[in-house]
This record gives sequence, structure tokens and C-alpha cells, in this order.
Amino acid sequence: MELPKTEQEGHDHDVCPSCATELCAGHILDWGKKYKPENPEQYASAYGWPAKLCGSKTIGVEISGAYDGVCYWQCPACDERFHRFEPNSRIHALVEQHWSRADIENARAESQ
Ligand SMILES: [Zn+2]
Ligand SMILES: [Zn+2]
Repeated sequence: MELPKTEQEGHDHDVCPSCATELCAGHILDWGKKYKPENPEQYASAYGWPAKLCGSKTIGVEISGAYDGVCYWQCPACDERFHRFEPNSRIHALVEQHWSRADIENARAESQ
């Protein structure tokens, strides 16, 4: 599944398309104002601001051996998985493989 991307009032993402849980964790610059009032921009830049405006409640999942970093996102409420990488990228293909393997294992575990 792909996460929706909306540019509403400076918010760069929306709700989970699967369970409709609000995934926005607030404006990153607001975190900076709260946790580092003397230099909110410096704090915020560590989280990708200003390219990214909002933090997200999605969980970043790494696949060891595939890529050094987040490979895909997962909804904290319904466990729906979302691609991080473009459909034609190598890591996208690896993630697809990983998901189908995990689905087979889950189906096996459930049928036992
Ligand atoms: Zn937002
Ligand atoms: Zn969800």
C-alpha cells in the first residue's frame, strides 16, 4: 500500500488509508520549540525539517541485510505496511519479497 501525501496547511501526510488512524505526530518545528526553545531550527533539522514538515506516527522497519535504514513503514494501529521506496527501485523489490515471505509464515502459523 502507498501512503497518501497531502499538502494541507503545511502537513505533508494524512491518515492511514487502511484504518483511518491519524498518522501526523505534529509539526517538527513545534517539537523544536518545545524541546529546544533556544534553537528550535537545529532540533528540527535532525528530523528532516524543513524538507519534512510533520513527524509521523508510522513505525520505520528495517530489514537486516537489505538496506541500512528504514525499508518500509508500518501503521501503529492496524499494522498495514507502506512502501518507502519507489516501485522501480531495488529495495522496493526486496521489501515485496520480505512481505510475501512474512505472509507465508503468518499463514503457516495460523493454520497450525
Ligand atoms: Zn501533519
Ligand atoms: Zn492503519
